[in-house]
Amino acid sequence: MAKIAIGQNRKMEDYLEAVRRAGGDPIEVAVGSGAPEQLLAGVDGLVLTGGGDVDPALYGEAPHETFQAAEPGRDAFEISLARTAVTKGIPLLAICRGMQVLNVAMGGTLVQDIPTQVAGALHHSVPQQRAGHAHEVWVTSGSHLQALLNDHMEDGETCHVNSRHHQAVKDVAPGFEVTATSPDGVIEAMETPGPAFCVAVQWHPENFWRTGEFRELFEGLVRAATARTS
Ligand code: MN
Repeated sequence: MAKIAIGQNRKMEDYLEAVRRAGGDPIEVAVGSGAPEQLLAGVDGLVLTGGGDVDPALYGEAPHETFQAAEPGRDAFEISLARTAVTKGIPLLAICRGMQVLNVAMGGTLVQDIPTQVAGALHHSVPQQRAGHAHEVWVTSGSHLQALLNDHMEDGETCHVNSRHHQAVKDVAPGFEVTATSPDGVIEAMETPGPAFCVAVQWHPENFWRTGEFRELFEGLVRAATARTS
């Protein structure tokens, strides 16, 4: 069974269950549990999870007044995990903060506060329902994400997602492509083109494990992780 490392945060249950239901063996990795390179040497895939804001100093900006730091050490730990996974081609599913970490790790920047910095923005901080639909996203044709979610989208390009973020990707890191946006232009997914599985989404697919909606993202990760071991 493919071992999937999951970056530890304050609420792990849904991530663990989503990986289990996709056929993976989830392993929590946390700040202080080892060097990122060594931790990833013992697994077949990685999930980067939700949480607080990435320190904007890491992409050359002063903090916006709404800045809420993540747990001490998480930025450096997860940036190292992200860089190692990308460099070594370890299958990676990056979720919410995880997508933001991945983008900063690879040289991109973030919108620090959508409500005050994106004119005409939709509501992206919608705490209820956790497994409900807050807004739609438009998925890029030909992307890994589109292939994964194709059966899920009636028209092949639109799906409805939950949304609990006040930040988003601004300048996309070199080597990455935007693969979904919401109608207000906020970037909702990105990935690397090519054979490696490196998929990032701004919404929270793990919250849907009870209904199986978005299980394709976790199944894609586990499939890529399994292929890498054989
Ligand atoms: Mn959103």
